Amino acid sequence: MRNVVLLGSTGSIGTSTVKVAEDLPDRIRLVGLGAGNNTALLLDQALKHQPRAVSITDVSKVKNLQAGLNNDTEIFCGAEGLVKLATLPEADIVLIAIVGTAGLQPALAAIRAGKDIAVASKEILVMAGEIVMSEARKHGVKVLAVDSEHSAIFQCLEGRPSSSVRRLWLTASGGPFRTTPKAEFPRITVDRALKHPSWVMGRKITIDSATLFNKGLEMIEARWLFDIEIERVSVVVHPQSIIHSMVEFVDGSMLAQLSTPDMCLPIQYALTWPDRAASERVQTNLARLGSLTFEEPDPERFPALDLARRAGAQGGTLPAVLNAANEVAVEAFVNGNINFPQISETVARTMEAHELVAHPTLEQILEADAWARREAAL
Ligand code: NDP
Repeated sequence: MRNVVLLGSTGSIGTSTVKVAEDLPDRIRLVGLGAGNNTALLLDQALKHQPRAVSITDVSKVKNLQAGLNNDTEIFCGAEGLVKLATLPEADIVLIAIVGTAGLQPALAAIRAGKDIAVASKEILVMAGEIVMSEARKHGVKVLAVDSEHSAIFQCLEGRPSSSVRRLWLTASGGPFRTTPKAEFPRITVDRALKHPSWVMGRKITIDSATLFNKGLEMIEARWLFDIEIERVSVVVHPQSIIHSMVEFVDGSMLAQLSTPDMCLPIQYALTWPDRAASERVQTNLARLGSLTFEEPDPERFPALDLARRAGAQGGTLPAVLNAANEVAVEAFVNGNINFPQISETVARTMEAHELVAHPTLEQILEADAWARREAAL
C-alpha cells in the first residue's frame, strides 16, 4: 500500500490520478488532496477517499470546506497549505499536478522531508531542475516521471545510465496545426488551439501542445530527469501518439513504449513502480491502428523547440524565463490580446532581454521568473 499526497487533485491529471487510486484500492491510498479553488470537486473527492488532510489555496473557500467535511480530515489553506500537505508524516510519495509554478516549493519541501515525488508539473524541473535533482540525490528520494513521454523513457531505460544512450527521442503529436500552412497562423483562434487531436488535457498544456512549447519544456525536463545534455534530446512528430517516446542506445538499438494515449497508465506506473499492477483500463489494438508514422518537426512554424533547446543548453535562469514568458503569452493569447505566432515571439523577445545567472539559487530563479513575467507583459 502506498500513501499518496496528490497536489492538483481537481485538474486533468488530478482526476485521472483519483481514477487510478479507485482502480487499485489495495495499492494506493490518497492521504492528502490539494486544490486551487474548486471546493465542490475537492469536497467530493475528500468525502469519497477520506484523506488525512486537504488543502485549498484560495483562503476564502475554507469555510465551504469546513461545512462539508467531518472532523477527521484536517484542512490547510494558502500556499503554506500545500507545503504542509506535501510533508504529511503519513505520505510515501507526493504527486505534483499543479499547473504553473505553485508546485515548486511543495516539491522541495516533500524531498527535504524524505518523500519520493512524482512530477506531472514539468514547470518544476524546467525552472529548477538542477536544484530539485540535487536535493533529491542528497535526501535519497526518487523523482518519478508522470509525463507520458518521460515515463516511456524511464520504462525503456530501466535504470541504465545516460552513458549507454546515444539519443532520447521525445515523440510529439504535432498538435492541431501540424499541417496548417504558416500563412494561416496569425488567424488561429483560441477554440481551434484548444482542440488537441490525441489528448484531453488542461487548458494551458493544450495551448502549449499547439505551439510545441510543451515539447520544448519536455526536452528541458528530460535533460534533468535523465541527467543528459539537451543536445542528445530530440523530437520526432508521431501523429498517432501511440509511441510515447524512445531511447536510442549507443549500439544503435532503439526501445519504445507504446499504448493508446491515456494518462492513467503513466500515473499508475509512477505510483506503483517498480511493480506493474494489473489493470484493464488501457487496451491497444495495433492491427486496428494499421500504421504508425513519423515526421521532422518544422522549426519555421514552431520556433518553440529551438527556443527551448537554446534555454536548455545555456541553462541557469534562462529556462525559468522561457517558462514564465510562455505562461504570460499563453494567457494573453487566450484573452485575445495577442495572436498565435506572437506567443513564441514574446518568449524569444523576453529571452533576448534576459541577463542570465548561471547555477542560480532558488531565490534567483524566482526573481528571474518574476522579471520575465513583467518583461513578457510589456
Ligand atoms: P489543469 O488545468 O487541468 O489542472 C490544474 C490543477 O492545478 C487544478 O487541480 C488546480 O486547482 C490546481 N492549481 C492551480 N493553481 C494552484 C495553486 N496555486 N494551488 C493549488 N492548486 C492549484 O492542468 P493539468 O492537469 O492538465 O496539468 C497539471 C500539470 O501536469 C501541468 O504542469 C501540466 O503541464 C502537467 N501535465 C499534464 C498532462 C495532461 O495530460 N493533462 C500531461 C503531462 C503533464 P483548481 O482547479 O482547484 O483551481
